[in-house]
Amino acid sequence: MATENTERVRSWIEGARRIVALTGAGISTDSGIPDFRGPQGLWTRNPVAEKMSNIHYYLADPEVRKASWQNRLASPAWSARPNAGHLALADLEKRQKLHALITQNIDELHQIAGNSPARVIEVHGTMRSFMCFGCGMRGPMQLVLERVRAGEEDPHCRDCGGILKSDTISFGQQLAPGVIDRAMQAAGEADLFLAVGTSLQVYPIAGAVEIARGAGAKIVIVNAEPTPFDDAADAVFNESISAVLPQITSARESGARFPR
Ligand SMILES: [Zn+2]
Repeated sequence: MATENTERVRSWIEGARRIVALTGAGISTDSGIPDFRGPQGLWTRNPVAEKMSNIHYYLADPEVRKASWQNRLASPAWSARPNAGHLALADLEKRQKLHALITQNIDELHQIAGNSPARVIEVHGTMRSFMCFGCGMRGPMQLVLERVRAGEEDPHCRDCGGILKSDTISFGQQLAPGVIDRAMQAAGEADLFLAVGTSLQVYPIAGAVEIARGAGAKIVIVNAEPTPFDDAADAVFNESISAVLPQITSARESGARFPR
């Protein structure tokens, strides 16, 4: 099954010591978490769903928040398990090849797969925590979801009465500058940059590819659809992520290492 391209990239990964991966929604679709922004995504099909993800509507309208909490409660991410793609990246860390894992995902499947939280840079935050707009308090999301299950439609902060939300970056919200700085710095330290399941169309994070390339890293892209960086990449795979990643990251021909 291994093509020439696969063999070539596998040898690069074997030789790499500071791999930086950037992952997007595409790596989690094989775990049953839909890509909200993709061509078949919920937001593309349902504008009401997009409203729930816009910070201005969220803060202004209790009805949007009520719908959003119900939506959060029903998220497929709570029961999702890491797939072979996540496990392949966790394996790179075990083999001490992974310098950093930048992710646009909020599902924490990388940490569940075994990547250490210290190495995962979550540029869009995490749905597994909540935050308060009044006092800035953060905590485990399940504490708030328990209140929603118990009948509170729009739970507010018990300390200050402020509006609560998942600790994620909504549309209209600023990215956290410190987090983006960390991601860009890591990209500049890469010897191989692996972009997985991301369309690379959204800045500033797409700029990580340019920074890595400028620093001399090899660029490998694994994504179902073409990206604006394909021409500048050293290798591109437009195939299933959970199939390709174990192949290009495995030290041996056999895929028997997965899943563990
Ligand atoms: Zn508060």
